[in-house]
Amino acid sequence: MPGKLIIFSAPSGSGKSTIINYLLGQGLNLYFSISATSRAPRGSERNGVEYFFLSPEEFRQRIAAGEFLEYEEVYKDRFYGTLKAQVEKQLSEGQNVIFDVDVVGGCNIKRFYGDRALSVFIQPPSVEELRRRLNGRGTDAPEVIESRIAKAEFELGYASKFDVVIVNDDLQRAEAEALQAISGFLKA
Ligand code: ADP
Ligand code: 5GP
Repeated sequence: MPGKLIIFSAPSGSGKSTIINYLLGQGLNLYFSISATSRAPRGSERNGVEYFFLSPEEFRQRIAAGEFLEYEEVYKDRFYGTLKAQVEKQLSEGQNVIFDVDVVGGCNIKRFYGDRALSVFIQPPSVEELRRRLNGRGTDAPEVIESRIAKAEFELGYASKFDVVIVNDDLQRAEAEALQAISGFLKA
C-alpha cells in the first residue's frame, strides 16, 4: 500500500521540529521528507539528511526543469522546496512521509494530495514566546531571528486552513495531541 502524508506547518520557533522528532520515534512507519534549500547548513546539519543543500543557481535550474512539487522563497533569497521524485519514491515504498514546510507550501501539498494528506498547524502561545524560543535555541543570528518573527503574524493567519491546529504551550500535551491525531489518521 502506498504511504500517506503528514504536513506540519507553523511559524519558525513554534516547536515543529521538536514534535516531529518525537513522532518519528513512535513506531508509525513515519519518515521525514527531505526538502531542498538554498540556505547554508547550520549547526550539525548534513546534506541529504536534514535538507539537500543547493546553490541558488542550482535551485533555480531545478525550478525551471519542473522538478518541484512546490517551492517557496520563504525568506528573501532563501528558497525551500519539495522534490517530486523524492516524495513519490518514498510513498511508493510504503513510507508515511512527514513534511516540515512553510504555510503556503503546506496548503499546496494538501491541495495536491487531498485525503491522502493530514495538515497540522502548530500554534505558539504568543509571538513573544516565539522570540524567546528562537533566542533560546541559539542557532540563528539576531537579524535572522527578526526576519522569522516578522513573518510570524502572516503565518498565524493560515491556521484555519489546516485540518488540525495544536497549540504548543505545554510540550508534553502538544506531543500527545499530535500522536493521537496522526495515529488516528494513519489507521483510517
Ligand atoms: P521549529 O521547528 O518550529 O522552528 P523547534 O522545534 O526548533 O521549532 O523549537 C524552537 C525552540 O523552542 C527549541 O529550542 C525547543 O526546544 C523549544 N521548545 C519547543 N516546544 C517548547 C515548549 N512547549 N515550551 C518551551 N520551549 C519549547
Ligand atoms: P529552517 O531554515 O528553519 O530549516 O526552515 C525555514 C522554513 O522553511 C520553515 O518554515 C520550514 O517549514 C520551511 N520549509 C522547509 N522545507 C520546505 C519545503 O520543502 N517547502 C516549503 N514551502 N517550505 C519549507
